[in-house]
Amino acid sequence: MSVNSRNWAGLVPYGLNQQHPNNYRDILDALWENKDSLGYSWRVLRDGCCDGCSLGTTGMHDWTMKGVHLCAVRLALLRFNTMPAMNWQLLEDAEPLKKKTEKQLRKLGRLAVPMVRSKGDRGFRRVTWDDAMEIVAERIRKTDPKHVGWYLTSRGLTNEAYYAQQKVARFVGTNHVDTSARICHAPSTAGLSATVGCAATTCSYSDWIGADLIVFVGANPANNQPVTTKYLYYAKKAGTKVFVVNPYKEPGMARYWVPSVTESALFGTKIADDHFQIHVGGDIAFFYGVLKHLIDNDWLDRDFIAARTVGWKEVEARARALSWDELEKSSGQTKADMFRFAEKFGKARHAIIVWSMGITQHRYGTDNVRAIVNLQLAKGNIGRPHTGLMPIRGHSGVQGGAEMGGMPGAYVMGVPATEDNARKFAAPDMWGFEPPTWKGLSAAHMILAAERGEIDVLWQSGGNFKQTLPEPDLVQRALGRIKLRVHQDIVVNPTMLVDPADTVVLLPSRTRYEQRGGGTETSTERRIIFSPRIPGGPDVPEARDEWEIPVLLARKLDPARASVIFPWRDTQDIRNEIDRVCPTYKGIAALRKKGDNFQYGGPRLLVDRCLTPDGKGHFSAIGLPEERVPEGQFLLATRRGKQFNSIIHADVDPITGARRDDVLMAREDAEKLGLREGATITLRNNLGQFQGRVKIDRIKPGSLQAHWPEINVLVPAGRLDPSGVPDYNATVEVIPGAAVQQPQALAQTG
Ligand code: SF4
Repeated sequence: MSVNSRNWAGLVPYGLNQQHPNNYRDILDALWENKDSLGYSWRVLRDGCCDGCSLGTTGMHDWTMKGVHLCAVRLALLRFNTMPAMNWQLLEDAEPLKKKTEKQLRKLGRLAVPMVRSKGDRGFRRVTWDDAMEIVAERIRKTDPKHVGWYLTSRGLTNEAYYAQQKVARFVGTNHVDTSARICHAPSTAGLSATVGCAATTCSYSDWIGADLIVFVGANPANNQPVTTKYLYYAKKAGTKVFVVNPYKEPGMARYWVPSVTESALFGTKIADDHFQIHVGGDIAFFYGVLKHLIDNDWLDRDFIAARTVGWKEVEARARALSWDELEKSSGQTKADMFRFAEKFGKARHAIIVWSMGITQHRYGTDNVRAIVNLQLAKGNIGRPHTGLMPIRGHSGVQGGAEMGGMPGAYVMGVPATEDNARKFAAPDMWGFEPPTWKGLSAAHMILAAERGEIDVLWQSGGNFKQTLPEPDLVQRALGRIKLRVHQDIVVNPTMLVDPADTVVLLPSRTRYEQRGGGTETSTERRIIFSPRIPGGPDVPEARDEWEIPVLLARKLDPARASVIFPWRDTQDIRNEIDRVCPTYKGIAALRKKGDNFQYGGPRLLVDRCLTPDGKGHFSAIGLPEERVPEGQFLLATRRGKQFNSIIHADVDPITGARRDDVLMAREDAEKLGLREGATITLRNNLGQFQGRVKIDRIKPGSLQAHWPEINVLVPAGRLDPSGVPDYNATVEVIPGAAVQQPQALAQTG
């Protein structure tokens, strides 16, 4: 074993004196939780493509490094795939279930049978699949398609399921089709498409190893994509430096104990070489400051700028015109800090910038992405080995979901929903019907429209809007106005229990590992990976394949046309069609067994030209956003703990030690307010209040962070990036002591 003690996090074996996850205990917990199905659990891990984040695996291996690829996130999600069916009779009375948490509902087991609840009913009644589909079809027949919404989650669904669902939605006549990508990475799609012409990561994970510099902005992969820490262990060993730009010094990005690498498991690995602690929303100013230094010191790739880009003069002029004073004020970093970044970045031969929801979940998320692109274009950091733009995805379905058409404005691969394209898709060897061309709504917009009474049918494949979107009371009101809600899912969640305006239908689906013909997913690095069907799973005889359920509806609505348009028997038939209809996915039909995969576009995109119409990379002379925080108030950002989307796995985040109701606060702010560690506080704004406890931590003064989704009571709905992503930040005041009213009660008056 060759060691590199310079990168050790400490000398105490296993970091026993420090707060960090105990991955060995996670393995024991997973064994215990899945003790009734150990053989099947093992086969899912050994043969399946991980349904957690979008690093992508085949079994417990990947294409970036040798050795085991497995993490606590995957182990915690395993139970979704192994648990038995629930006692469906519990759903006959929804009232007691409403008092249960998401976790308690999930633990009841798999949704077992189709069920329906009508207005005024205490609970759901069991129906046949045929009856359920007749109820849905009857409502859809009398609904204007512009009042029908379709939402697809991003965990677990396969490309085949996305493709089938959005095609049925278009068959029904709606373009209100969206995935949970809209709640995380839509600004990446919008920003990258406009500037470099592709909406995907331009490089591969393997490019990390050997890069001079990797910059993480608004991202915490140690928590969300834990195996990245193993990639970073190898990158650091190869000499790569790591910069982190973030208002909070994420402990997991400072050091990590990689359990499957002996050296790192024993002594930990220092990850960040430098940290730039910006204000929440200070990214654009920070990157303009860096650009200003690059210009002043001529650390630019002028040949690349001249040959391969447009718009440089405007950006250069904008950067020169901005004063250091305003850049420092807006970014929260000094001119010297920005120089420290610029010098390393400017002198690096190759650098990769990786970002996530700290960048995208702002009302100016797309501009944040454009600011990152500016920096990479100024240095020619695209298309070459160890360079690139990487919006790292948190869910296994985010990349493929949008590419397979789970978008309001595009059919597949971003092909815009226009009349010309609709005619092309109407050809018999394409879809065989003309899809709608009007502009559909994003998920957050669908809920706002529902609140106005403009959505009458909402089909949800997965998803838990009541907990994931801002202003839960508004969401509940909106859901309660939708005449027909259809929930196609694996388990029960709180959104399903919102009282029906007229009808709620529950449809039990199979997991990706149970699907006939297996399925594929597309990882962040554009790798389309086959995941086989794994026999021997739980006994849920009435569950149907994810792709098949909407097709049953199409067949009910119009049997003759549907038999031609949806002739599929299994997912192989769907892959054959995707192969024909979507040139970027050409080759997907040949993926048939474990390990089969290909990376569309090859290891790197944009090698010779960008994919914009003129082949150039487009600089963006964006303005600085304004975050006005009234004197004495704080800018609150949302964060994730040990959870997967709204699925909370633990009450304490093992990386930070924060409890779910802890509010991260800078020491100097706590001292100003006379608050001690653990003190009870109330965060309040005009929407509601949240009672929490002070956790003094290394966060930018003036900012706070608290766990999402609990903190959604303070986040305003309707404040969205143009791409549709909610701005998950809020301005709040901090009041020492307990809340005077229950958050729910105050929120209703807000
Ligand atoms: S890092 Fe992501 S892809 Fe890898 S095992 Fe964990 S959840 Fe799965």
